[in-house]
Parts: sequence; structure tokens; C-alpha cells
Amino acid sequence: MSQARTIPYFRPSVGPEELESVRETIWSGWLTTGPKVKEFELAFANYIGATYSIAVNSATAALHLALEALGIGPGDEVLVPTITFASAAAVVMHLGARPVFVDCLPDTLSVDPDSVERSIASRTKVIAPMHYGGLPCQMDRVLEIARRNKLPVVEDAAHALPSYYGERKIGTIGDITCFSFYASKTMTTGEGGMITTDNPDLAKRMRLMAYHGISRDCVTRTGAKRAWRYEVLAPGYKMNMTDIAASLGIHQLARCDAFQQARQKCADAYTAGLAPLELIKTPATGAGLRSSWHLYVIQLELDGLNIDRDRFCDLLDEAGIGSSVHFMPLHMQPWYRDRFGYVPHDLPQAAAAYDRILSLPIFPSLGADDIEYVVDTIASITRKHRR
Ligand SMILES: *Cc1c(COP(=O)(O)O)cnc(C)c1O
Repeated sequence: MSQARTIPYFRPSVGPEELESVRETIWSGWLTTGPKVKEFELAFANYIGATYSIAVNSATAALHLALEALGIGPGDEVLVPTITFASAAAVVMHLGARPVFVDCLPDTLSVDPDSVERSIASRTKVIAPMHYGGLPCQMDRVLEIARRNKLPVVEDAAHALPSYYGERKIGTIGDITCFSFYASKTMTTGEGGMITTDNPDLAKRMRLMAYHGISRDCVTRTGAKRAWRYEVLAPGYKMNMTDIAASLGIHQLARCDAFQQARQKCADAYTAGLAPLELIKTPATGAGLRSSWHLYVIQLELDGLNIDRDRFCDLLDEAGIGSSVHFMPLHMQPWYRDRFGYVPHDLPQAAAAYDRILSLPIFPSLGADDIEYVVDTIASITRKHRR
């Protein structure tokens, strides 16, 4: 195939406002956690409609703090989707607990509530669903199962900014919600994350543990004098966001809705273009759900093709089109497979979906002509490799 153009899998949208704001922050002399982080946290809480927001240095840190605040430790089990990023399970291991993987629904690839229900045991302490690609999972059913079993819900919303479940924004529903500002996410601070919650005790614990377990209450009690005095209330972590990152975040957040609208346009154009191709299944949507469209994941009808997904990706690559796979199920990853003795068909929907899924380029500056080229290329591959 002749290479007409090059389309990266992802390109962040960082503009001159962000650059200027970072420059100001650096020149202010206050580089680490300070006024910009405070401003970003308040703007984020306001945007989401949550009571508390805590800025941290990654979504991985956010998930870690959330589980720590809920008291997760040795002997506990946390229900984690098998189709997710590695760190969602790693933080459970770091706390000495065990991730128990749950299967996905074949269409949305988000957690299957029935699989959640089946996986609950006496050691289960938290349900931690993820909103795959930005499409909210079936939160009503997850919350109902959680309530009936008296379990808290920690949402991995690394893909879900902004996403809506009915009228409610993701970030206002579960006990704790964790967002990511990694470079390839829907808005970025390079590295970064945010936690939202309405629970004051959990918020206090997470804020404490995000910064060395150091309490500054005694500082505020005694006023500006004796700023050197602090108390260590617990052996905390080092997970605070810097003002440099926050100054990026403030501007990215202001553009968040515009970014979503641009990705929505991309998704609509892909879906319109790919709908006539019978060997390509376009992403599921749902009534009352609004996706952030962090990912645009197609599923290949492998029975009709004489190539597999990996070869399909190679052919896109040869045409200059970046693509990705989200994700190899964690129960099939060597460490979890060997440690807990999983076989692929333990979670059959996820294992089958893994062979079919492929993420296409989607980002705000992706052009209509680029999308047309991707669609034409996919059409030509499916024509050529029809079984
Ligand atoms: C990116 C991602 C994370 C981790 O985010 P970081 O900010 O890089 O720590 C967690 N979960 C999911 C589903 C992700 O895609």
C-alpha cells in the first residue's frame, strides 16, 4: 500500500496559554505544590460538581490513595476489571491485598455487573470499576450490588473526563473517583491525576497520605509563624502534584469540553464511515450515556477475515496509521496468570474480546480528511483480506 500520509495514534493539544502559564509559574519561584495546585483543585471540583478534589501526580497514585483510605490491606480482595491498565491491579498488590479480576460485557468492554456479583466473597472489600474508553459502565447495577453487599465503590475514571451517566458527571457517583492527566489522556498535565469525593474523612486521609503523612493543622493553628513545625501522623507517600503541572491543568481543564466535542465529531465521523463495513463493529454507545471518547475501539469480525488483529494493526501501520490495543486482559498477563493460576477462559468475554479489539487514532486536532483516510484504508484491508 502506498503511504499517503502519517497519522499518529495520539497527539496532545497543548497551546500557548499553557506554555505562558508554565513560564509564569517557573518565574514565580514556587515550582512545587502551591497556589496553582489549589486553584486547579478548586476549578476541578467546581467543574465536576464534587465536594472535594485532591491533585496528585498520577491516576495510579489516586487509586493507591483511595484504597489506602478505605483501609485495604493484607487478606483483602478488590474487584478490578481484567480489561484495564496494569496499575489498577498493581496498587492493590502494593497494599498487600489481592486483585480479583472481573469479566467485561462483550459490547461495551466495561465491567459485567453479573461477573462483579459472582466474584464477591467474604474477603471482598472494594468494587473498583473502570469506564472503558470513556463510556460509563452500568453504574446503577454496580451501585446496587455494592449497596446490598455494603462495599464502597472506587471508580477508575482515567478515560472518563468528561463523561456523563444520565445527568450526572462521572466523578460525582461512587465513593471515590480517580482521574488521569497522563500525556495521552483526554486532558494532560504531562503526568498527573485528581481524586474526587464527597466524603470529608476519606478526603482528609487521602490528602494526608499524598504528602508524607504530614499534618499542617498545627501550622494553621499557630498562624504564619513557625511554618517549620509539622506533625507526621502516618508514614505517607510522596504523590503531590507540582504547580508546574497544575498550571498546565488549569488551562487544559478550561478546554476540556471543547476537546470532548472535537473527539465526539471524530467518533461520529468514524462511525458513519465504518457502519457499512460488515467486518467492523463500531463502539457501543448507550441511551443516557455520554462518552468522553478517550478511545475509539473497533472490534474485528475475525470469522470473516483471513488475518488476525495484530496483522491488521501492521497493515494500518504500513499505511502510516497509528493504532493501539486497550488492553491485554490482566488475568492473561504473565505475572497475574502465574501468581493466581488464571487461564484465559476464566474470564471468557475479555479473552475473546482481546483478539478482536483495536483502538483507532482519536484526538481533538485529528482532521476530517485524516478520518476519511483511516476509513478508506480499513475498507480496503477488509476487502483484500475477506475470508
Ligand atoms: C492511564 C490509566 C491509568 C493510570 O493513569 P496514570 O495517570 O498514568 O497513573 C489507570 N487506569 C486506566 C484505565 C488508564 O487508562
